Amino acid sequence: MIKRYPTKKIYIGGVAVGGDAPISVQSMTFSKTADKKSTLEQIKRLHFAGCDIVRLAVIDKEAAEALKDIKEQSPLPIVADIHFNYKLALIAAQSVDCIRINPGNIGSKERIKAVVDVCKERNIPIRIGVNSGSLEKRFEDKYGQSIEGMVASALYNIKLLEDYDFTDIKISLKASDVQRTVGAYRTLRPKVEYPFHLGVTEAGTLFHATVKSSIALGTLLLEGIGDTMRVSITGELEKEIEVAKAILKDSGLTKEGINIISCPTCGRIEADLVKAVAEVEEKTKHIKAPLDISVMGCVVNAIGEAKCADVAIAFGKGSGLVMKKGEVVAKLKEKDLVDRFLKEVEKAAKEYQ
Ligand code: SF4
Repeated sequence: MIKRYPTKKIYIGGVAVGGDAPISVQSMTFSKTADKKSTLEQIKRLHFAGCDIVRLAVIDKEAAEALKDIKEQSPLPIVADIHFNYKLALIAAQSVDCIRINPGNIGSKERIKAVVDVCKERNIPIRIGVNSGSLEKRFEDKYGQSIEGMVASALYNIKLLEDYDFTDIKISLKASDVQRTVGAYRTLRPKVEYPFHLGVTEAGTLFHATVKSSIALGTLLLEGIGDTMRVSITGELEKEIEVAKAILKDSGLTKEGINIISCPTCGRIEADLVKAVAEVEEKTKHIKAPLDISVMGCVVNAIGEAKCADVAIAFGKGSGLVMKKGEVVAKLKEKDLVDRFLKEVEKAAKEYQ
């Protein structure tokens, strides 16, 4: 059982982050935010994929001013991502649900206060987004792009907001490699009570980003660290959500959906297991019930796995078994096995409700 670190609960629109709230999944659009049509299309795709919160880059006044219309039509809470330009933060904060800005990067105390005032007025949080590649010069000069530098930068930025009694804060500490990412979150965790947004930055394309994020975010989540998360994948939207949800599920932090247990196949294989598993995966995607289903290539391990699975299939020579909770419910020819198995999975999902 994972014991999560106690953190302050904040709200990004209607989504609670921290405290006892479920760990939410975020992503970011890659359209130009000023292009409202494309941005809304991407937000809707993310919503359909199961994303909880979306972040939009605000690079100029046109983008900041587009946020009002986008927010009105967005099915998801919006975080405006701003670097350096506090005037953009002042415009964005009028309509979005959270802004991401590092107060240390926006200049004078007056500017920080102006941003804090508008966030207080609208009751929206600020995400402090520390990134190993863009630390303030004095921290980089002293510590390099190290864990110490990232943590020092986070504490400095937190203090700037706390000095104005602003505590609706969440924090990210992203590096582009696993060890610094894990080290930075671990080091800061006992020092503050604010919720953490987990992520590995610039993690790469699908394969590498999945491996890096699974190790880093999986490690942290198993230690009870993390309140919201993003898996960054170059050029992907839906895959970011799919991978993030799989990390949560396989870390045992959510139960929703099908867990497929399938063997890797070997010389004892008795059927076209690869085709069967692909069909099962595709046709059970829609199921929300937390079922364990097992698809095994021969009887060697199939019977043992079937005992722990809600529904199982064990291929034999030209025929096989469909089992439910370890009990055989049908012995059929190979060609009929997957169809019957899928019917039993649908039945088990209905029984779960
Ligand atoms: S279940 Fe059978 S086919 Fe699959 S890996 Fe194990 S021994 Fe090989």
